[in-house]
Amino acid sequence: AADLPALTEADPTAKALGYVEDASKTADAKHKAGDNCANCQFYTGAATGRGPCQLFPGKSVNAKGWCVSHTPKKA
Ligand code: SF4
Repeated sequence: AADLPALTEADPTAKALGYVEDASKTADAKHKAGDNCANCQFYTGAATGRGPCQLFPGKSVNAKGWCVSHTPKKA
């Protein structure tokens, strides 16, 4: 999974979902402080670095990234 090509912010689907590589840089009002890919239920990677997201098959997202589909991981 670590070898998946990196999703970029320029990717059309990424743009549609407001994906950013750094959650702290988003200007989207839907972002809540502290939310990032690492604590999203669609992310299956490690807490740091990059990993897979179910919404972006075949690509890796940044653990520090974020998009509008962020959903907190279930406890
Ligand atoms: Fe990150 Fe979750 Fe959006 Fe996937 S759905 S890009 S893991 S915030």
